Amino acid sequence: MTAGLLVVLAAAAVIAWIVGGPLLAARRRAALRAVGLSDAERAILSRRVPLYRCVPPGLRERLDGLIRVFLAEKEFIGCGGLEVTPAMKLTIATQACLLVLGRDEHVYDELRSVLVYPSQFVVPQTWHDEDGVVTEEESVLAGQAWDVSRIILSWEDVTAGGRGDEAYNVVVHEFAHYLDHETGVSLDVAGREDSGPAALLAREYEALCQAVERGEEPFLDPYAAEDEAEFFAVASEAFIETPREIAAAHPDIYAALASFYRLDPASWPVPRRGPGR
Ligand SMILES: [Zn+2]
Repeated sequence: MTAGLLVVLAAAAVIAWIVGGPLLAARRRAALRAVGLSDAERAILSRRVPLYRCVPPGLRERLDGLIRVFLAEKEFIGCGGLEVTPAMKLTIATQACLLVLGRDEHVYDELRSVLVYPSQFVVPQTWHDEDGVVTEEESVLAGQAWDVSRIILSWEDVTAGGRGDEAYNVVVHEFAHYLDHETGVSLDVAGREDSGPAALLAREYEALCQAVERGEEPFLDPYAAEDEAEFFAVASEAFIETPREIAAAHPDIYAALASFYRLDPASWPVPRRGPGR
């Protein structure tokens, strides 16, 4: 075999890898989406995630397919002695996939692992202030979007959300941070965009910070006043968990998030609490 032929073959292999890889991945995802969920899995979700029952039939099929892809592609790692059961994986995957239900072909592509602790966990954090002074301290967290490949959750906190009766959902919160990192929406809010969803959110964020400063109790958890990224994550929790309430109290926040997520959860049926978790 000549050196020239070897080069041609090597180039052909590289081209096949570049073109074929994504095609194979897309085909694998399409097959997984077509499988969807089993009746047993739907029954588990009906008990554990009442919001699942509210998703309209057309979207429900799409959600089932996204959940199947999520479960196949992401590794769940139990930490602190926790064994992550299939039902726990299903519960987390469903709430994460609710957020991308309206987005094209999005299943958190770069995410590799979801780490799950039994309860809140301690992480070392480093802060740099404006003068360059570095402070190191330990934080106790319910969840963290650690980096592009990992999200960490406290199972105790996961079970406290997802019921649609209060605006608390640590899975939605952390996956909203993940989407924010990808899209830079909170940076646009911080940059006080002139128009569009980020401009609406910027005005609402200002109003919220002022209300918190005045000692008032805002509609959103006051933690949303921490910064624009937390505002987006906390507002996303309310958008998924209590959409009718936030649409009534803050129509601009609802409109901005409906545009970002391409979903209208306020039009979905009201969830009824399941018989137990
Ligand atoms: Zn946060």
